Amino acid sequence: MANKKRIYIAYTGGTIGMKPSQNGFVPVAGYLSETISNMPEFYHDDMPEFEIHEYEPLIDSADISPQAWQGLAEDIQQKYQDFDGFIILHGTDTMSYSASALSFIFESLSKPVIITGSQIPLSQLRSDARANLLNSLYIAAHYPINEVCIFFNNQLFRGNRTTKQHADGFSAFVSPNYPILLEAGIEIKNVAGKKQKTVNTRLTIGKIEKQSIAILHLFPGLDWQVLDNLLKSPLQALVLLTYGVGNAQQDPQLLNTLKEASERGILIVNCSQCLKGSVNMEGYATGHALSEVGVISGLDMTTETVIAKLHYLLSQDLAVNVIKELLTTDLRGELSKPA
Ligand code: ASP
Repeated sequence: MANKKRIYIAYTGGTIGMKPSQNGFVPVAGYLSETISNMPEFYHDDMPEFEIHEYEPLIDSADISPQAWQGLAEDIQQKYQDFDGFIILHGTDTMSYSASALSFIFESLSKPVIITGSQIPLSQLRSDARANLLNSLYIAAHYPINEVCIFFNNQLFRGNRTTKQHADGFSAFVSPNYPILLEAGIEIKNVAGKKQKTVNTRLTIGKIEKQSIAILHLFPGLDWQVLDNLLKSPLQALVLLTYGVGNAQQDPQLLNTLKEASERGILIVNCSQCLKGSVNMEGYATGHALSEVGVISGLDMTTETVIAKLHYLLSQDLAVNVIKELLTTDLRGELSKPA
């Protein structure tokens, strides 16, 4: 086929390229590239050309970090002009965090970036890796959507809307508050109607560094002193996982602790423990009390996106008030504004 698209594959690690060992699956340098080179379907006429770049060391995605996100973004920025699309091979455990973080770091994306991986290594019988990687390559070349996506189990998702829902099933990801972008059935269905042209502009990337952030999952019987101690540490932001539409217990000491922390400039973001739906602190008195003490609504963002957005925004040179404003602003399609 003339004018084949060229896709860059950044291989960071994860199950997809692992090899069985006496201690379970481990990533082994060279093993994934060798396995692919023995699979003729990757070289079919309708497939794009691709180049695999293996990172050193290959990691289990539990070890991913803001520093690694910055490195990945810089690598893709360097290769940006030479390729039509980018695939990142990544472990599933933290894939949604990385997809969210990269969506913020890439400030002017005009080519597709698809993150994928698998639950069973490519080299194993019954692996889901073959379909995930083949489809990701095919979609990046023929159905580009110029944003950071995750492809998994025949579905293409907006990356910063996903969360890992299944520890050992093939349907590892869901996008609870945003529709699927593409569905790979007998045909590739453009569910969101978003087929786009890739443009060869320059890619600008932002900076991301590790910030001091904590998550606290509310539960009946939470001792306010635990929260107080947490907020005394050198914390910049706290994500509160609240009940339902954003409610918390009406414990005056707990509310007072939150108020004092917010006044000291600590960002406190309200995310729901529910998978679907949006925070609305005006729904109940128990939620309203949180907005009164300075808690910021996480709206319908996933916890993964809020963590990535906080790392990103706190890495820029911005005043706390500006960060508060940006947290509830749609920067990369990561949130829906209430009607
Ligand atoms: N522990 C692995 C990882 O996230 C799991 C996977 O790849 O699916 O790297």
